Amino acid sequence: MSMIRFVASDGLPGLAASLARGGRRVLVPVEKPAASKPSVVFAPWEPGIAMTLAKATVPPKEAVLPECETLMTFRKNRDAADLNQTTVELAPVEAAQPTVVFACRPCDARGFAALDKPFLEGVYADPYYRARREALTVVSLTCATGCETCFCHWVGGGPTSPVGSDVLITEIEGGYVLQAMTPRGEELLGATDLADGADKFPLAEAARKAAWASLVPAPDLKEAAASLRAVFDDAAFWEAETARCLSCGACTYFCPTCYCFNITDEGEPESPCGGKRLRSWDNCMSSRYTREASGHNPRPQKFQRMRNRVSHKFWTYPENWGSFLCSGCGRCIANCPVCLDIRAIVLDAVAAARGKAGA
Ligand code: SF4
Ligand code: SF4
Repeated sequence: MSMIRFVASDGLPGLAASLARGGRRVLVPVEKPAASKPSVVFAPWEPGIAMTLAKATVPPKEAVLPECETLMTFRKNRDAADLNQTTVELAPVEAAQPTVVFACRPCDARGFAALDKPFLEGVYADPYYRARREALTVVSLTCATGCETCFCHWVGGGPTSPVGSDVLITEIEGGYVLQAMTPRGEELLGATDLADGADKFPLAEAARKAAWASLVPAPDLKEAAASLRAVFDDAAFWEAETARCLSCGACTYFCPTCYCFNITDEGEPESPCGGKRLRSWDNCMSSRYTREASGHNPRPQKFQRMRNRVSHKFWTYPENWGSFLCSGCGRCIANCPVCLDIRAIVLDAVAAARGKAGA
């Protein structure tokens, strides 16, 4: 059996504090007060921080893919003796800080696993992503049940899924059972002074089983990719599905698996010779996302952008990488100002494709 530890009900903040010793960044869920809509975000642990175990409103994707990062700084130097000669100095990539994402949910961990494929397993591995990923340990809290908007078990995950997690925490009466799922998780738990929890593991297993039993059975999405292919050219279908969309992009910014980015160069205000290259999150639901320098835009209509987003997640990414680009976290549903529901769009595509096949 893998390494099992136990911590009492009030022990998780202390565990987060102990993990943060030695300069490690420990990102914990915290409540962010707001007049209109309070939210839960991940923030670095520090003494006095009000950690919560609620599911975060914003996923911890920034641990590997910051909203905006400097890829490199550059400086052009002109040779004073020969003005035709210019050299460019590039600053090296900085090493990533060791980080623990603490008490995220299995859908968040699955998000990291989904990002790993394009960023690490393609023809080129992304060195910035790789550095952060190699320095990351993911400690997930299993869910006791689902919620109205989440659907992890539709897409290959589940409330206790270990995919992407190094340690799984499960609440039982009187405390939490922590199970190492990877060698990195064993290393993390092995360095703590937590008590052995092997005798309590059956209680964790029972809690996990109860979580699965509480879910409404999932529809079969085996036909999703073929169905999206079949309705791709059906503009009327996509227009009807997208009519309410405001192109605000909230669905992409809250998503643990969306990874579109833009790269821009920013000059130094004080010198024309230096600057930095930035990578920032982008939003494929924006009309400007595909606008080319010529002014041509291959996806000027919002239905085309929705079609691209849903097809990428449920057709083309699965075709390339063998799993959905969606962890079923439901944040795009919960945060859409007009209540668009990606589940309904995929199911409608399956029904429409079946209708076309039968027609
Ligand atoms: S959050 Fe909703 S309204 Fe905004 S772009 Fe996404 S689907 Fe459209
Ligand atoms: S598409 Fe929606 S449900 Fe799926 S991972 Fe992204 S935010 Fe979560």
